[in-house]
Amino acid sequence: MADTTRRQALAAATIGAAAAALSRSASAQTTTGPQARGGKQDPRSKYPKPPFKAQSQPWPGLAGQMDPRPDHGETSYVGSGRLNGRKALITGGDSGMGRAAAIAYAREGADVAINYLPEEEPDAREVVDLIRKAGRNAVAIPGDLRTAAFCRDLVSKAVSGLGGLDIVVCNAARQQSIPSILDVSDDEFDRTMKTNIYAPFWIIRAALPHLEPGSVIIGTASEQAYDPSPDLYAYAQTKAATMNYVKSLAKQLGPKGIRVNGVAPGPIWTPLQISGGAQQGKVVTFGATSPLGRPGQPAELAGIYVRLAEEDGSYTTGNIYGAGGGQGQP
Ligand code: NAD
Ligand code: MG
Repeated sequence: MADTTRRQALAAATIGAAAAALSRSASAQTTTGPQARGGKQDPRSKYPKPPFKAQSQPWPGLAGQMDPRPDHGETSYVGSGRLNGRKALITGGDSGMGRAAAIAYAREGADVAINYLPEEEPDAREVVDLIRKAGRNAVAIPGDLRTAAFCRDLVSKAVSGLGGLDIVVCNAARQQSIPSILDVSDDEFDRTMKTNIYAPFWIIRAALPHLEPGSVIIGTASEQAYDPSPDLYAYAQTKAATMNYVKSLAKQLGPKGIRVNGVAPGPIWTPLQISGGAQQGKVVTFGATSPLGRPGQPAELAGIYVRLAEEDGSYTTGNIYGAGGGQGQP
């Protein structure tokens, strides 16, 4: 059996188990979980909906300790060679959207380097194992993105570990919910700017000399770029900046054959939200105001990160792709 076919068969066989595990973790409700590709599913009941158990973890939080555990496509994503031979660096690749992208990229045939904070090692180990199980090269590069020196080092380690680089996903972010601007400290503001705005600048600047025509850069923006919440003063403006750099860089790098796009998620069930990104009360009702009645799961964005990286998307640049759950953004 060809590698891809075997992976597809294995993935299909475990889909039932995935659905069962997800239903168990949200035992108070009926969720169908992800099913075999090609079928039709009610998006309202596919995944857990609020009320969720009250929970909080110290920043940056671990996906492995969330209840219910987020779905990053571990048992459901099926690849079909859409990124064969590609080489990707993903920041925040241990959990959330970054992890969903890492799993999907590996199953689509890419080698993947992930960056994350040292305290996220347990989540990162799981991702490294999943990338290797997909038969691809995994490079783990822990470290704090808030200095130019580390960002340069990260790119150089990714290039040497992967033997090149042609997909750069700037996805890591700091988000803290603080109701009043009077309580936003200089340190918090600086931390948010360094992680969300400076790090992509430093990483892209270091990566560019390695990116040949056909390479892509993807930034994770947010619905917050368009419709900011009152308690996300610092964070929301960084997401507007992300949306903006995607558009300016696409114009600058198009002539070099490099595409630049962004992903704008709505409310997604990830560690960022339960480690200060949302107020406790909002964790319990997280996603309740979405027209689908629930938050999204990282797995529901995996296909967007693939689409923006793959050759089929060759005319897509300077664009922001949403998975907003119906609130109208982007
Ligand atoms: P997440 O907590 O799983 O991922 C965020 C990651 O950022 C962490 O895993 C961590 O590795 C990384 N990070 C934070 N500070 C860092 C630092 N100083 N150095 C290195 N790494 C650092 O949460 P997520 O929701 O998947 O977040 C991924 C992206 O999605 C972010 O850009 C976030 O703004 C965006 N987003 C999330 C939502 C949502 O509702 N969860 C909505 C819109 C946009
Ligand atoms: Mg994490």
